[in-house]
Amino acid sequence: MSKVMVLTSLNVDYTIKTTKIPEIGETVVASDLIENFGGKGANQLLGIHRLGVDTIAFGKVGKDALGEKYLHHLQGQGINTTYISQGPEKTGLAFIVVDEAGQNNICILPGANGSIDQTDLDNIRDKIADVDIIVSQLEVPIAITNTIFSIAKKLNKITVLNPAPFKASYKMLLKNTDILVPNESEFISMTNLPNKQLSQEDILQLSPQILNEGPSYLIVTMGGAGVLVTSPEDQRFISAKKVAAIDTTAAGDSFIGGLVSQLVTTKEAMPTFEQVVHAAEFGNKVAALTVQKNGAQDSLPTLKEVTNYWL
Ligand code: ADP
Repeated sequence: MSKVMVLTSLNVDYTIKTTKIPEIGETVVASDLIENFGGKGANQLLGIHRLGVDTIAFGKVGKDALGEKYLHHLQGQGINTTYISQGPEKTGLAFIVVDEAGQNNICILPGANGSIDQTDLDNIRDKIADVDIIVSQLEVPIAITNTIFSIAKKLNKITVLNPAPFKASYKMLLKNTDILVPNESEFISMTNLPNKQLSQEDILQLSPQILNEGPSYLIVTMGGAGVLVTSPEDQRFISAKKVAAIDTTAAGDSFIGGLVSQLVTTKEAMPTFEQVVHAAEFGNKVAALTVQKNGAQDSLPTLKEVTNYWL
């Protein structure tokens, strides 16, 4: 059976609601505190899992109450947590302060995510041969992703990288990345574009220099506009579905879930351009469902929900 390994960053998100985001030295009174399970890797993992694909989760939480709670949560969702270890560091945390206008400030403590080490890697090494696709983002140590991607490439597996949150050192991963999936702001950081409204022309002009460094495909997600898929030979724009978006949290993660859930069925060392476009179209449909619901993991649809909605 097809399988996907997800390098799974795991954070517990604390969202504090205030009338106003405090200035330095200022104290404000909050109206609410909401605790959610998050982390881009975990969102991508659950996105893929809910679409009916067999997954292997590789990650780390703390040996603390939050770590136990997160493992329990994943197990409740049907995820096998054998390869999520527990270390002495705290479970990853994100503190999000949101004001009434929806503006936010975020502070992340990587904690255990940042301490995935050689021992953890040695435990999962043999499993790389059993999967078809490996997915990573940048919330786990880049050196770990690099080792796993390079083993995966030697075994002709497909590697998918979401370069988020952006770090310039992502570049070291490119030679072992098959499919690179940034959003607009990550693409702007990757190409050192002045921070402006990104156009399709900008992407088409700059994608050859990125594709030159290794990836076979570059897929830029462009929020409510859609998705642009490029390869050295071809390009295709997919318009976003016209839906009433209420919360775009995890849109990108769910897009990746949808994309990967289709790529895994191609069963070839490298999918063709048309297969990648087809997978991106499915990701676009999955993400369009996600943005119609509040929350991150709660808004990730099942395969049945996707097929019923897009009959
Ligand atoms: P991220 O969440 O990483 O910032 P994007 O905002 O680019 O990613 O969104 C990812 C994908 O989600 C888009 O390419 C699109 O397919 C879908 N999407 C995002 N916003 C909307 C929207 N308002 N309506 C329909 N689809 C959307």
